[in-house]
Amino acid sequence: MSCIFCRIIAGQAPAEVLYRDDRTIAFRDIHPVAPVHVLIVPIQHFDSLNSLSEEDEALAGHLLVVARRLAEELGVARSGYRLVINTGSEGGQTVFHLHLHLLAGRRMPFAGD
Ligand code: AMP
Repeated sequence: MSCIFCRIIAGQAPAEVLYRDDRTIAFRDIHPVAPVHVLIVPIQHFDSLNSLSEEDEALAGHLLVVARRLAEELGVARSGYRLVINTGSEGGQTVFHLHLHLLAGRRMPFAGD
């Protein structure tokens, strides 16, 4: 299995897992760029957001709800946080398994920077 996130999901690679259910896993980013930096990842492998179809709308919504719950549990819901989905090489994607970044704990610059 070459996908690092699939290996984490399968328990074949280490991660600091904060949440897991039948559709989703969330773990801390190995190279955090903010005091809170969590990745919310579907169990099913999608290369990127480009691979998501209308049939996956419920899953896409679930990922957002999990992110919102994690923000509350990590104590950043009121202070604020940012969700990021990098897509494709020019979008900054480096791991080609769809994931949301949950970033918080510092002031974020303008999103276009
Ligand atoms: P992206 O650049 O949007 O594809 O984000 C990939 C993220 O995955 C980066 O922030 C990496 O630091 C993170 N990452 C890569 N490998 C691991 C790993 N083994 N455990 C946790 N995070 C990882």
